[in-house]
Amino acid sequence: MKDTLKHKGMRNKLAKLLAKKGIKDEKVLDAIKTVPRHLFLDSSFEDHAYQDKAFPIDADQTISQPYTVAFQTELLQVKPNDSILEIGTGSGYQTAILLHMGAKVFTIERQQELFKKTSRFFKKMNYRPKKFVFGDGYKGMPEHAPFDGIIVTAGAPQVPKALMSQLKIGGRLVIPVGVNNQIMTMYLRKSEKEFEKQELGHFRFVPLLEDKN
Ligand code: SAH
Repeated sequence: MKDTLKHKGMRNKLAKLLAKKGIKDEKVLDAIKTVPRHLFLDSSFEDHAYQDKAFPIDADQTISQPYTVAFQTELLQVKPNDSILEIGTGSGYQTAILLHMGAKVFTIERQQELFKKTSRFFKKMNYRPKKFVFGDGYKGMPEHAPFDGIIVTAGAPQVPKALMSQLKIGGRLVIPVGVNNQIMTMYLRKSEKEFEKQELGHFRFVPLLEDKN
């Protein structure tokens, strides 16, 4: 598959739609206009890649809906050179959005099949996260903490303590919390012990699974 002017046109339309749905951050919209989402999907979905919909990827997982990606990214308030931890790499689309915004991205995926496929894809596309590891996101990456931002892209039954502790003071954790459907929740770390919590509406994600291996 290639990236063509036709695709670029569809991305511009998608960015307009997301702006209409309430996304304001121009840097987020610019990333949506730039990252070729159709290349992260199976070729059979190519024609639909720029609809505002989630799609299946391998291992029974999904690539998040563009609105959800934009909403979470906006909440993170990413600045160039911020170090961002992502839990649930999946197709790598959210990772690529963060890279486009100039973040240093540390990302974790627990499905081996997806980890392998997305590793190959990152190499092919020359997307360079600082770290891409196969492992359990509940534990975060203590060796690279603290982070300016942490984004969880699967539904968490509860907020993993390790992730709270790996946030810089002033940093943000954006996490969908809940079992069948989730409330998007943002924690801003005010001090060593204090977090300010905001709840920002309902979403549906595949579950954040605990590592049983
Ligand atoms: N950001 C991805 C979303 C993929 S869906 C995208 O846009 O494509 C969520 C992903 O979280 C799935 O790939 C799933 O395998 C992964 N996941 C679930 N539990 C996890 C855990 N404990 N640690 C790391 N990744 C996990």
